[in-house]
Amino acid sequence: MSTSHDNSFKIMIALGLGAAAGIAANLAVAGNAGAMENLGLLIDTVAHPVGQVFLRMLFIVVVPLVFASLTSGVAGLGDLTKLGKLGGRTLLMFLVTSAFSATVGIALLELVRPGDGFDPAAREMLMRSYASQTTEIQSRTGSVVATGALAVVNQILDMFIPRNITKAITEMQMIPLIVFSLLLGAALTKIAEEKRTAMLQWLDALTESMITIVGFAMKLAPYAVFCLIFGVTARFGLDLLQKLGLYVLLILLGYAIVLFLFYPILLLVMTKRKPAQFLRDAAPIMVTAFSLSSSNGTLPTTIRVSETALGIRPKIASFVLPLGATMNMNGTALFEGAVVLFIAQVFGIDLSIGQQVLVVALCVISAIGVAGVPGASLPLLMIVMAQVGVPPDGLAIILGVDRVLDMGRTVINVMGDVVTAAYINEVDAEAA
Ligand code: ASP
Repeated sequence: MSTSHDNSFKIMIALGLGAAAGIAANLAVAGNAGAMENLGLLIDTVAHPVGQVFLRMLFIVVVPLVFASLTSGVAGLGDLTKLGKLGGRTLLMFLVTSAFSATVGIALLELVRPGDGFDPAAREMLMRSYASQTTEIQSRTGSVVATGALAVVNQILDMFIPRNITKAITEMQMIPLIVFSLLLGAALTKIAEEKRTAMLQWLDALTESMITIVGFAMKLAPYAVFCLIFGVTARFGLDLLQKLGLYVLLILLGYAIVLFLFYPILLLVMTKRKPAQFLRDAAPIMVTAFSLSSSNGTLPTTIRVSETALGIRPKIASFVLPLGATMNMNGTALFEGAVVLFIAQVFGIDLSIGQQVLVVALCVISAIGVAGVPGASLPLLMIVMAQVGVPPDGLAIILGVDRVLDMGRTVINVMGDVVTAAYINEVDAEAA
């Protein structure tokens, strides 16, 4: 236990040092094209691979871990009516927390209106500089939007039960994997006891081995986190902060409201836990989410820490957390709502209250469809913008500062799952 605390401490130090080194490097090369190129080379050839080895070691365990832990979690719940009840409450909690978060994002931007009077020259400059990235993101929306009733129905079917489950899994599509694991877990409750026990033993061994691999990866974590953060801050558009500072600050404030006010209130009201202690014990999860910008990549750590430091029973953690990493994105919903309002303000478009309510609904729905990987919300966000008449290529304006906000929203996303797991853990204990 103490070694894992030592390691979290080391990871946090690495986070601070990496950020400081990155900002220093960014400032040192500013205005010097040759030096900037060398810094880019250093990031690509040293910082990037070290960070990636860590990230990929976590990614390789995600599929077997979700499969094994969710299947045995569901089989462990015993009867299927219980699964239905807990599942219903879990989804309701996901929905309510996402809607609340999107509303916070929209309300903050509406109150302060940082986009009003945004310098048109700066707007044009940003639109030009990030045009190619925006086009690239827009091209990714093509596969998402379907037109025509049959196409939409088929798309929804593919999202949940594709024809070829192995293809979906090799593409790391988590929803089909979750559906398959739920079905297998449910089926296991119906077969002969001795066969079920043998399968459960095998699944538990697989889960434990995957968590052990996460332990190996965590040894590398302090160095990888240093490199990941260095790469982000060294390339970060510090000069853009002047123009987009208020926008960034407001979104960070929104994240803080959800993390330090909303989640603690939920913990107090819905569980018997002490919020401050809970957040402290969850620090390794937050640091990992922040460094990786990926809910999926963080999932192994989320499960491990929830079961150990937070005392959430494995059958609940393995049921709620994989679902949450895929479907519950409170930080993303907040961010999306805020961006739509900000870009609308920059373009002088007024969104009526009705349209703002529509934005909340669209943010909640699109956040469910967002994969838990870095920057995944951006293509769907463009679709939301288009729905309410905000020019989607206006996204270019905020792309330069997005990575830092992505790190923050991933923390909020993952912590929303952990708070939900704590609540379901409580409900289940009371029912037992
Ligand atoms: N990076 C986020 C996550 O993995 C998704 C997003 O909002 O881009 O949770």
